[in-house]
Amino acid sequence: MTRRAKKGLEGGIPMKATFEYMERYDYENLVLCQDRSAGLKAVIAIHDTTLGPATGGCRMWPYESEEAAIEDALRLARGMTYKYAAAGVNLGGGKVAIIGDYRTQKTEGLFRSLGRFIHRLGGLYITGEDVGTTLRDMEYMRMETPYVITLPASWGGAGPISGATALGVVEAMRALCEEAYGTSDLAGRTVAVQGVGMVGWEAVRILVDAGAKVTVGDIDREKAEAAGRAFGVEVTEDPNRMHALPVDVYCPCALGAVINDDTLKDLKCRIVAGSANNQLKEERHGEELHRRGILYAPDYIANAGGTIFDTDRLLPGGMNAERAMENVRRIGETMRSLLAISKEEGIPTYQAADRFAERRIAEVARARALAKESSVGLR
Ligand code: NAD
Repeated sequence: MTRRAKKGLEGGIPMKATFEYMERYDYENLVLCQDRSAGLKAVIAIHDTTLGPATGGCRMWPYESEEAAIEDALRLARGMTYKYAAAGVNLGGGKVAIIGDYRTQKTEGLFRSLGRFIHRLGGLYITGEDVGTTLRDMEYMRMETPYVITLPASWGGAGPISGATALGVVEAMRALCEEAYGTSDLAGRTVAVQGVGMVGWEAVRILVDAGAKVTVGDIDREKAEAAGRAFGVEVTEDPNRMHALPVDVYCPCALGAVINDDTLKDLKCRIVAGSANNQLKEERHGEELHRRGILYAPDYIANAGGTIFDTDRLLPGGMNAERAMENVRRIGETMRSLLAISKEEGIPTYQAADRFAERRIAEVARARALAKESSVGLR
């Protein structure tokens, strides 16, 4: 089993092959929700609940077919299982795909109806924001069910999470610096932060505090200049070519697919660690980084800080920011474990991340099976 989806058939999985696909990747449930009066057609995919309730965002997209929506929900749900498992969070993987145009087809009724369907599952699935949905949509669902994790602070949510995401990125970076340079101290390290949006901005703050020499860039020139002024850092002329800068660490905090055939040949850094999702254009690009000895913090490990922070309120006692940030800092430990697996097995870190997640799930399942055995006969 690997976290990444094998590329599906064009237009989605044919309906008759759905069980085969679910068997292949060990899915638990697939729930189709239909409410004509609310204009709702949605798919809830539940991958694995070994660690806890299946959790993952609610995506709204004008899918070209029902099969495409089913495939997307299934694929993304499996990704969430791995993300939570590797982040040490006790949640399983799930996802919702609503078939519809998020620009024109959203209504309060649609989200409240979906909220009712989610409520019926009794906590098996917990939802959140994703592509095409907003916090406002989450509020509508929260009116019908408590099983909504991403909410504004005024509704009991965790509030802004990008500071936690940035801290996790820097912790992953420190672990990789330790491997590459024998010290996790960032003083004097040169770092190129591409994108000074919500996460990049906070990452620059932490890096500068730690004494790193930072260069920033953003296609929004004003933002880049503002970061330059706020933190006293250098601003690059060409934000699209930051991967080619002669720095110790390339920290992509903007777009995905930044490690590709074109960029790889120009990389001069020892380390790639940033928050952007899907940094490797294809898996083979992760293999190429490994072959060239460039240390890579797998995106879903490095950027898990926000998720760890966001889901803290599900832990005993409810939201505790101090505990949440402590858990975010553990991303450094996770990164060290991945490096160890990568060396032991001679595999790239992105593959080591999958192994690490699978091991954690298997370990917890074993511990639970043991506990069950020892309680036999006690009732
Ligand atoms: P954001 O939209 O606030 O910031 C992205 C910034 O990148 C913007 O300022 C944008 O102008 C800039 N940008 C876009 N294209 C660029 C380019 N080619 N070169 C340089 N700059 C460019 O987004 P964010 O919330 O900071 O997230 C950044 C990345 O991290 C995204 O890939 C996101 O999916 C991922 N991520 C974010 C979080 C979070 O907590 N916000 C959590 C996990 C993953």
